[in-house]
Amino acid sequence: MPTPQELWETALGELELEVSRANFNTWLRNTKVLEKRDEIMVIGVPDSFTKEWLEKKYYDRIFTVLKGVARDVKKIQYEIKTDLFQTAPSPPPPLRERPKPVSSSTAWTQPGLSKPAKGELNPRYLLSNFVVGPFNELAYAATLGILKNPGEKFNPFFLYGGIGLGKTHLIQAMGNAFLESDEYRVKYISADRFSSEYIQSVKTGSIQEFKESYSKFNVLIIDDVQFFAGKEKSQEIFFHTFNHLYQKNHQIILSSDRPARAIPMLQARLRSRFEGGMIADIANPGLESRVAILTKKLEERGATLDQDIIEMMAQKIDTNIRELQGALITVLNYCELHGSLPKEAVIALLDQLSALNKKTTSFERIVEIVTQFYNIDPQLLLTASRRKDTSFPRQVVMYLLRRELEYSYPIIGKKLGGKDHSTIMYACKKIEDMLKDSDDLRKDLEVITDQIYNF
Ligand code: ADP
Ligand code: MG
Repeated sequence: MPTPQELWETALGELELEVSRANFNTWLRNTKVLEKRDEIMVIGVPDSFTKEWLEKKYYDRIFTVLKGVARDVKKIQYEIKTDLFQTAPSPPPPLRERPKPVSSSTAWTQPGLSKPAKGELNPRYLLSNFVVGPFNELAYAATLGILKNPGEKFNPFFLYGGIGLGKTHLIQAMGNAFLESDEYRVKYISADRFSSEYIQSVKTGSIQEFKESYSKFNVLIIDDVQFFAGKEKSQEIFFHTFNHLYQKNHQIILSSDRPARAIPMLQARLRSRFEGGMIADIANPGLESRVAILTKKLEERGATLDQDIIEMMAQKIDTNIRELQGALITVLNYCELHGSLPKEAVIALLDQLSALNKKTTSFERIVEIVTQFYNIDPQLLLTASRRKDTSFPRQVVMYLLRRELEYSYPIIGKKLGGKDHSTIMYACKKIEDMLKDSDDLRKDLEVITDQIYNF
């Protein structure tokens, strides 16, 4: 007879395959069976936040899996057990000067535009106008967790996702929410700006001032950290800035257009810092979310459109939120100019836009991005090396050449240094099969595809 804990661990093993790694680590890893009371499985969780999330978001999924391993279970009950988790992997060091949490009433209710946020933050990026859907809900939940308990469980916060999906909006909204309270001194800067200011300080002999200027903040938000790639000196200085703030339990928030491990030429110690806290991603919004976003944007502008026009737009524009927003503005402008909006006009406008945004790529581009992503020399693609670190990226290239450019198997073989078409077929099939099971690979390929088209 397996013990309840063993049953739970078996279930966790299965759940680990079903949900993304970020989700698993955040919500499931730190759970334990407290007891099995007849048909009720009582699971201990570290905090109310996790409890709520598991109950609301994952109940059915977990229940189904658990039922598969323990047939008699009829119900799962979550109980908060902080003491159980004191020995959790790396608890944050004791707090010395922890600022009070941002109260929820002031933090993310509509602060209005009357009080412009200080500094570098755009006052229009707010949580109240951030649409939440399945594609970004983990990131959003983490955001709420951070605002409640800054500098604790979700520190640092590493947010990644493709272009135009709301990273800057969300992290600036956090900054704006923090600024609602006087206790927070927020610094928002992009990584490339950080680098150029640092270089400037070197030129003017004011490195010390540059460094010290960061010690007065207790919330540091760095946008687009992928721009640290290859900038050794900036990484060095940022590493120290990071450590300095982190040791004081100050909240650090980072965004990137790709996972930390896919940032080329990033020092290992920095990468491990980036991966040492909460990681969340934002995916492409699904159709329903796209409709919700359009609806929200219309509401903000005090404008209306017929529901079928909204839906048609959401159908047609499936790239990212920035483009969705751009299309909406085009359509509204047309409406204003002509005083009416026939459906045909919308179709024509959207077609025009999509022709403008027509994505193209090339053999060279795919090779460049994939080899950059996996950090290998492009020449190795042409060889027959079977080392996994080379052969896998090579297979990814083959798969993408087929998917994105519709190359035939023999052409791919020829382009990649004269390989047999059966090798290519095998590779494409293998990647396709892997994609069915591997959340990580699926995400990697999303990032890669995004890169291929977006620069
Ligand atoms: P990223 O930094 O990921 O490239 P941005 O944050 O700049 O993307 O978002 C692009 C545009 O889309 C911005 O105008 C932003 O306000 C809008 N946007 C993105 N995500 C959302 C969302 N969830 N709800 C409402 N607007 C959004
Ligand atoms: Mg951005």
